[in-house]
Amino acid sequence: MGIRAVFFDAEGTLLHIYPSVGAVYARVLAEFGHPVPEEELERRVRKRWPEFKRYFRDFSPEICRRTWRRIFREAVEPWLADPGEELFSAVYEAFARPDSFRLAPGTEEGLRFLRERGVKAAVLSNWDERLFRVLEAFGLDRYFERVFVACERGFGKPEPEFYLLACAEMAVQPGEALMIGDDPELDCEAALRVGLRARLYRGEDIFRIIKEEVDEGAP
Ligand SMILES: [Mg+2]
Repeated sequence: MGIRAVFFDAEGTLLHIYPSVGAVYARVLAEFGHPVPEEELERRVRKRWPEFKRYFRDFSPEICRRTWRRIFREAVEPWLADPGEELFSAVYEAFARPDSFRLAPGTEEGLRFLRERGVKAAVLSNWDERLFRVLEAFGLDRYFERVFVACERGFGKPEPEFYLLACAEMAVQPGEALMIGDDPELDCEAALRVGLRARLYRGEDIFRIIKEEVDEGAP
């Protein structure tokens, strides 16, 4: 069976936070007059990310924003006891801007290749509405038939329903879809469990791995 659709993870795969989560936080805090060391912020934010895992079955835009707010408040707590909503919003919005990200090498070339081959592309992400804005700012939205975002759909990876919903809306069988992502559990094991193909992303050129996978899976 040939590959008829390729699903991509967003952060850590197509998009890479730049220069780092901590640096983006620190930049905004500095703009508000609060100099905070970025390495320490990076460590404190990353440590709290797994908190989202408990919502994979019960996501909503409200839960999402509330969770990011709590992560933000806990991360900056040693320096700011009460950072306020305005500062949180500024940090939140910083991650909707393209200057906080870099694209993986070969992204556009890879997406163009898929289009030329008639293979559909979609994004499957546990993120929120900010992803739509970032993809649009990079001019990538036109390559994707769909962008599946957990916060908008109510559930996310690794739930089997999330993958099955994506296959159904893209009108492909699970065996005709390839998932590419940097998380061994959420992107790969979960996809394989519902019958998709999967490729763990480790920073390679996106065009090269797409070409490899699509040519290999050609009928
Ligand atoms: Mg990822």
